Amino acid sequence: MPRDDAPTPPTQHDAASHPDDARPRLATRAVWSGEDGPWTGGATQVPVVKSVAFGYDDLDHWRDVALGREEGHIYGRNTNPTVAAFEAKVRDLEGAEAATAFSTGMAAISDTLFTLLTPGARVVSVKDTYGGTNVVFREFLPAWGVDVALCETLEHDAILAEIAKGADVLYLESPTNPTTKVLDLAALAAAAHEQGATVVVDNTFATPINQRPLELGADLVLHSATKYLGGHADALGGVVVGARDLVARIYHHREINGAALHPGAAYDLLRGLKTLALRVERQNASALRIATWLEAHPHVAQVHYPGLASHPGHAVAARQMPGGFGGMLSFDLHGGFAAVERVVPRLRFAHRAANLGAVETVVAPPRTGSHVELSEAERAAMGIPEGLVRYSVGIEDPDDLIDDLAAALSVLDAPDR
Ligand SMILES: *Cc1c(COP(=O)(O)O)cnc(C)c1O
Repeated sequence: MPRDDAPTPPTQHDAASHPDDARPRLATRAVWSGEDGPWTGGATQVPVVKSVAFGYDDLDHWRDVALGREEGHIYGRNTNPTVAAFEAKVRDLEGAEAATAFSTGMAAISDTLFTLLTPGARVVSVKDTYGGTNVVFREFLPAWGVDVALCETLEHDAILAEIAKGADVLYLESPTNPTTKVLDLAALAAAAHEQGATVVVDNTFATPINQRPLELGADLVLHSATKYLGGHADALGGVVVGARDLVARIYHHREINGAALHPGAAYDLLRGLKTLALRVERQNASALRIATWLEAHPHVAQVHYPGLASHPGHAVAARQMPGGFGGMLSFDLHGGFAAVERVVPRLRFAHRAANLGAVETVVAPPRTGSHVELSEAERAAMGIPEGLVRYSVGIEDPDDLIDDLAAALSVLDAPDR
């Protein structure tokens, strides 16, 4: 719902005008939102519009669209109909006023941070953010004159203390990669708002099916759509959703910075999104079963999964993830990396790759994947033991995944030659 008369780019779709209680449920929105044409020739599926520019015979109409007074598209770096449908679907799933899409998740993250933070500004975050985000915090933002405070992820009071020193942005991720640490998003957002900070949450791991940070007080939610939203590991993309005025500022940065989502990728992501609820419900259920099974396995030292009662963040996760605990887990093998090297190559139903959130199960030991550039000591300091395996649960039959894990782990029954 527009709250002001300022011209806004047509990429930002107004929230549906019907009241909340009349809204369809998430699985229905995943299928139908953003799909309303009319599209050429009565097409029922959103077309991939590859035209770079959109022509106007009526110059007054052209000007009105260019100024955002009328719906329409001008140039593909700014907006595009296929991309707009993707934005509308994610916006509706997260329950936001506006959305804008990017070529990758990292483009969404860096454009958001560089929009909100100018030299002299201060951002508070945690040490366990996604690897690329961590580089933005440790290299790019300090070089741009931004004061970056990175806290121990599980030290809630230390994060509150940093926020109390003053913050322009609070940037959070929950659950985290790869040890699924859980942050209390509502409590931290409330503290940040007392300082006038903008609260940004990377919701890639949870997806809007499981967790909707805007309802917990976040101002902006962003995603690597490359992961669960697309779900098929065949398209890169990113998206930011939130209040219209904030998203308009980030959109402005993106249209000039140029990290536009390709319409072909937007189509792949849109198609993937239609099954988001189905996939995530299966992945939630399978991950909980697999985590429970792994926890009882003699070769497994520890399992990290927010759905387990043994997880330190379980109570908070149960409160802030009403849909489920997600499809990401990790487990630590007795025997360290030597054990990982024996077990992981034996898995039949898992890609060994630097990806997650796909229909196929994907495994990645942090030592060769997400945290490959760190030393063993640095990984240890982050609470990442050498025996850790990140396991992104796919949509396969969970009995096959458990059989597969059982067979692969059985190699550890015999001593290494
Ligand atoms: C993969 C990922 C990103 C980065 O997304 P890209 O699409 O690869 O740029 C950001 N945050 C999280 C949590 C991720 O898993």
